[in-house]
Order: sequence, then structure tokens, then C-alpha cells
Amino acid sequence: MTFEGEYNMKLIMLGAPGAGKGTQAQILSEKFGIPSISTGAIIRGAIKNETPTGKLAKGYIDKGELVPDQVVIGIIKERLSEPDCKGGFILDGFPRTIPQAEALYAMGIEIDKVVDIEVDDDQIIKRLSGRRECPVCGATYHIENNPTKDGKTCDKCHAQLVTRKDDNPETIKSRLDVYHSQTEPLIEFYKGKGNLLEIDGGKTLSEATEDILKALSD
Ligand code: AMP
Repeated sequence: MTFEGEYNMKLIMLGAPGAGKGTQAQILSEKFGIPSISTGAIIRGAIKNETPTGKLAKGYIDKGELVPDQVVIGIIKERLSEPDCKGGFILDGFPRTIPQAEALYAMGIEIDKVVDIEVDDDQIIKRLSGRRECPVCGATYHIENNPTKDGKTCDKCHAQLVTRKDDNPETIKSRLDVYHSQTEPLIEFYKGKGNLLEIDGGKTLSEATEDILKALSD
């Protein structure tokens, strides 16, 4: 499969928490040799390092709420100005609101494709409950759908996997509510721009990857 414009490809991964955005972004990042940028991972790093941004964001992330637009827009502006983004990038978890999407346009960034991974809420709840994360490199796994080789440690850096603090039943519910009210309107927004690819994320991980690659090459 060949990809026209494979280089300098600018992608957005859209979808509910747990839809598989991060996992698919990691796969595409390796395939295309462009960075996958997760605002959630950047924010968790800032919280761990107790930076001013981390301190501000902690209350929101713990409750499953969105961090204010201006804070996240600042984070993404800084990250996209780094040299590794010159050849393209994949945004995982940004934008999550219409003002964030508008801010990307205001930065003069032209997105090639928006990959919307669709999964129903019942499946999302099951997926998030079984999700595990590497605290060192941020790679994500699932105890059944995408386990590590030994079921306990990260395949890449061998750190002991952890369950994210916001992957608990109560916070999962508020994150889903936030997704439906604040992020889902982006589907219509990008449909209107003509660059939305709708992917059935209810399939297996590798089937969804195949569908994404096919949609990107069409
Ligand atoms: P994620 O790792 O993408 O599931 O993000 C985890 C949490 O980080 C979210 O529940 C939000 O609290 C925060 N977050 C990540 N990305 C954004 C964003 N684009 N806008 C606002 N909050 C965000």
C-alpha cells in the first residue's frame, strides 16, 4: 500500500476516550515516522513533574473534566514548534473542543485527515476498565484485546504497567459525558471541512488499523 503525501502528513485522531486513538496513533507514528502527540500524556507528565501547568491541570484530569482550552492550546503550540513536527505529526486527544479546533486553524496548520474512531459507550466502558499504561514511555495496552508479551510489563521499556487514575468507573462516566457534549460536535465540524474519515473502532485492533490505512490511501 502506498501513500501519496505520506511525508509531512498531519493527522488528527478523534474519538471517545478508550476508542483506540492512542494505540492507533502509535502504530501510524511508527509506520510513517512522524511523532504522535498526546495532550493527555503531556499533561500527565506535567503533573508528575509538578510544573505550574501540571498543578493547574490536576484537578480537572482527576475529575475527568477537560483542562481549559487556553492551557491546552498553549501546550500544543509549544509542542508543534519543535523540530520533529516539521515532517508531519499525529494529534491524539487534541482538539477536544470547537475552540481548540479553531485555534489550530488560527495557527495556520492545515490538517490532511481527521480519523474518527467510533465505538459505542458499553464497549468503551469495558475497554477503559481493562486498559493498562506504561508509566515510563506512555504505551497503552489492554489486558484482553492488546496484552503485553508477559501480561505485566511494557514490551518496549519493560516497566511495570499501571492503571491510569482516571480509568475508574466514576471518572470514566464523566469523561464519556464530556466527550458527547464537548468533543462529538467536532465530527460535524470536520465533516463540513471534508476531511473526516469514519472508522468502525468496534472491530479488532488490527482490523481497525487496516481500515485506517485503507481510508488514508484512498
Ligand atoms: P487522554 O489521555 O487523551 O484520555 O486525556 C486525559 C485527560 O487529559 C482528559 O480527560 C482531560 O482532562 C485532559 N486532556 C487531554 N487532552 C485535552 C484537551 N485537548 N483538552 C482538554 N483537556 C485535555
